[in-house]
Amino acid sequence: MENTNLLAIAEEFGSPIYVYDSSKIVSQYNRLTQAFKKVKQLKLNYAVKALSNIAILKLMNSLGAGLDTVSIQEVHLGLAAGVAPSNIIFTPNGVSLEEIEEVAAMGVQINIDNLSILEQFGTKHPKTPVCIRINPHVMAGGNSNISVGHIDSKFGISIHQIPHILRIVENTGMTINGIHMHTGSDILDIDVFLYASEILFDTAKHFKNLDFIDFGSGFKVPYKSGDIETNIEEFGVKLTKRFNEFCKEYGKDLTLGFEPGKFLVSESGYFLAKVNVVKQTTSTVFAGIDSGFNHLIRPMLYNSHHEIYNVSNPSGRERFYSVVGYICETDTFATNRRISEITEGDIIAFKNAGAYCFTMASNYNSRFRPAEVLWHNNEAHLIRKRETFEDLTRNQVDISIFDSQVEEVK
Ligand SMILES: *Cc1c(COP(=O)(O)O)cnc(C)c1O
Repeated sequence: MENTNLLAIAEEFGSPIYVYDSSKIVSQYNRLTQAFKKVKQLKLNYAVKALSNIAILKLMNSLGAGLDTVSIQEVHLGLAAGVAPSNIIFTPNGVSLEEIEEVAAMGVQINIDNLSILEQFGTKHPKTPVCIRINPHVMAGGNSNISVGHIDSKFGISIHQIPHILRIVENTGMTINGIHMHTGSDILDIDVFLYASEILFDTAKHFKNLDFIDFGSGFKVPYKSGDIETNIEEFGVKLTKRFNEFCKEYGKDLTLGFEPGKFLVSESGYFLAKVNVVKQTTSTVFAGIDSGFNHLIRPMLYNSHHEIYNVSNPSGRERFYSVVGYICETDTFATNRRISEITEGDIIAFKNAGAYCFTMASNYNSRFRPAEVLWHNNEAHLIRKRETFEDLTRNQVDISIFDSQVEEVK
C-alpha cells in the first residue's frame, strides 16, 4: 500500500490501527486456486482464527471460499457474515461433545480429532457424516508452538489407530465423508508436505464413502525481502498429479481441500502505530510506540519477524532502532532494526499484520483494542471501531459492599 494512503488512514481514524488491503487477499486466493486449477474440485476453507472480522469473512465468501472454524463462536461469525452452514467446516480440538453437537445441528461439516468423541458422536448421530483429523506423525513447521503434526502433538488421531477408527465406524454405522490433516504453520519443505499427503492417501483407502480430502494448511509466506516461502506453484503441480492419480484408484472424483489462514491474509495487513518517544540510551536508540504486545503479540510469543518502516519519513537517513511498546514489562517488537530516521510523532508500519495479529489482541494494561480498516478499491472502510472506556467496563459488575467503608475512612 502507498504511504500517502496509510498516512491518511492514520490521520482520519487515529492510531494504533490495523489496515488490510483487499487486493492482496484476492491475489493470494487466485494464486492458490491457479496452482490447483487441474484439480476437478478444489475447496479452500479460510481459517477464520487468522483474522475474523466479518468484512473479511464476507470478502472470502464473495471469492468462493468456505470457512474453517475452531470454535462455535467462529461458526456464528461465519453465519453472521452470510456464509452458508454447508460452506463451513468445524475443526476443533479438545472441545466438548455438546459444542460439537450444537455446531453439527446447524448443518456445519464436523471434523473430529479424537477417538472418544468419535465414538460418542457416532453412537448418538450415526446419520451425520463426519470428517476425521489424522495425525500423520510428520514433523513439519517453523516453530514448536505451531508444529502440530508430530508424534507428541495433541492434534488428530494417530495413523496407528486406524484399526480402532474402523471398529468405531463399523459399530456405530456412521459415515466418514472426509479425512483431514493439518501439520503446522510455516512449512517450507514441500517434500515434507507431499510425504504427509502420501500417508493421507494410504489412510483414505480404508474409507469407502469419502467426498473430500483436506490437506490443512501451513504455507509459509515471506516476512522480509529475500525470505523463502512455500513454492505454491510447484506444490500445486506435484500434489495435483498425485491427487488425480489417487482419485482414479479410489474410483471417484474427490474434492481437494485446504484451509489456509496466514497465506491468504498475512501480507494484506499493516499495523500502524505512532512513535511517542525516541530515547537514546548508552547502548541503543529506542523508538517507543503508542501500542505494545497487547495489540501485536507475535514478536514476543513466536519470536516472529515483522518488517517495520517509517511511513512518515520513508526515505530519510537510516539508523538503528529498538522498537518497543508501552506495556509495563519487556515489550520489544524488534532490536537493532534499520529504519529511516524517526522523529517523535512519526507513523511507523509493521508488515505481515493480517494473520494472528488483531485476533490475538487483548486489553492488557487496560488499553483499548485498535480499530480496523479495509482498503478496498482505493477507499478506506472502517470495519471495526476503536474500543472505548465502556468496552472495558461493560461486563464488570460494580458491587457496592466496599463503598460505605471508603466513606468511613474519609
Ligand atoms: C490454524 C489452522 C489453520 C491455518 O493455518 P495457517 O498456517 O494460518 O494457514 C488451518 N487449519 C487448522 C485446523 C488450524 O488450526
